[in-house]
Amino acid sequence: MEEYDKTYNENPYFELFQRQKTKQLSIGRHSYNYRIKQLNKLKIAIGKTYRDRILEALRKDLGKPKVESELTEVYQIIGEIKHAKTHLHKWMRKHKVKTPLSMLGATSHYIYEPKGVCLIISPWNFPFNLTFGPLVSAIAAGNSAIIKPSEMTPSSSALMAEIVAQVFKEDEVALVEGEVETSTQLLKLPFNHIFFTGSPNVGKIIMTAAAKHLTSVTLELGGKSPTIIDETANIDKAAKKIIWGKFMNAGQICVSPDYVLINNSIKDKFVEACKKWLGHFYSEKPENSDSYSRIVTQKHFERLKAHLDNAKSLNAKIEIGGQIDGESKYISPTIVSGLKESASLLEHEIFGPILPVVTYNDLGEAIDYINSKERPLALYIYSKSRTNTKRILNHTRAGGTCINNNVIHYSNHNLPFGGINNSGIGKSHGFYGFKVFSNQRAVVRQHTYGINELLFPPYTRFKETLARLTIKWF
Ligand code: NAD
Repeated sequence: MEEYDKTYNENPYFELFQRQKTKQLSIGRHSYNYRIKQLNKLKIAIGKTYRDRILEALRKDLGKPKVESELTEVYQIIGEIKHAKTHLHKWMRKHKVKTPLSMLGATSHYIYEPKGVCLIISPWNFPFNLTFGPLVSAIAAGNSAIIKPSEMTPSSSALMAEIVAQVFKEDEVALVEGEVETSTQLLKLPFNHIFFTGSPNVGKIIMTAAAKHLTSVTLELGGKSPTIIDETANIDKAAKKIIWGKFMNAGQICVSPDYVLINNSIKDKFVEACKKWLGHFYSEKPENSDSYSRIVTQKHFERLKAHLDNAKSLNAKIEIGGQIDGESKYISPTIVSGLKESASLLEHEIFGPILPVVTYNDLGEAIDYINSKERPLALYIYSKSRTNTKRILNHTRAGGTCINNNVIHYSNHNLPFGGINNSGIGKSHGFYGFKVFSNQRAVVRQHTYGINELLFPPYTRFKETLARLTIKWF
């Protein structure tokens, strides 16, 4: 049993942590079948037992339409579970590797072993998906976990607590509700891995706390995801997809197109096409549409209102929308152009239903603009030109990219998902999620006399010559 710092005794979560820690080595030894059993229990809870209540909680917290909740929450978790179940056997296998000649007489392999007791801290925008998604990877990799969901979506967090308590034993998976103070206390404990999804600013706090224990981290962060539309793009198709990706969940998506960079010659046509698709998706009165979400809290509503006020004060043009209602936390789908570079909408991640449209004359300008900012979580390209697409891919860096689409790369479990630098550290989903929750343990097995023993001390002149002559063969 590990010895712990005495100060941990005052930590309200130490007892729970210690119970998980005590049981972890035996959980880690559990077979493939046990992990599959755990995943199946979660699948039944999300896909059947609690499905309607999940949709209800999301409607309460975020005004999320049912179809959106099914697609972006339930389906995503079930998909992650199914993918893990299909591939887990292969992932858990021992992976043989070559052994160099200098180690003649030995064989080598590596195994993925569980990291141990993990902390999962999740945000509010897709509360179920971004809590249970990482949990699927943690369980598949044989870990125990303590989960801290967001305090901003209380109905969802309370329901998740109920689901976790019903599906898992507390000394294997537990969920604690609470605000920042709860995270702060949990972060004082020496977890074996921390998986955090949230803002870059809080990501820095998480990494600082993790450094104290040299705990590894996965940081799934956000930031501004640019969308380039060049002069060769199919404008109507681009507008349709961008309106879908931007205004789903009222723009409260880490991978939604944060702003558009468009060739000046096609800007007006694009805005016209956006108007058409907005009307089609949400009607002329989005405030009455059952397909349109609301802003999560009053604080976030005020933050977005301040962005709009700032844009107006800088004489930006509200091309579409701009209507707000504080009481229902409603902001209509809004498109803004003519923004000065200093506008707050171009400085901060928007995370709401406001789409700035910025024009360029030459593609190089758009590339330089993106490269002058933090590296994005996603970068989208709308173009029919292979040359332009290749140029953008080669001259920018981003966590992920869709070409002639947006957002959907998130749903392919075969792809690594995550950012780079300010938009994140480490990847998740499918095998990549399994990998971050695992330690790759190297194993060398000596079968016969090891050739390297020829060079053990004492170092005689003969061994000196042997080393000099043979080193080139190894
Ligand atoms: P947030 O960083 O404010 O909060 C995330 C979690 O951290 C919550 O559980 C919260 O309680 C906790 N937290 C907040 N302040 C803390 C502190 N000082 N110390 C310790 N814990 C703290 O993020 P949010 O507002 O919930 O979510 C929005 C952000 O998350 C956006 O930046 C968005 O882009 C990002 N995001 C990223 C992804 C992704 O997969 N990369 C997914 C969704 C959201």
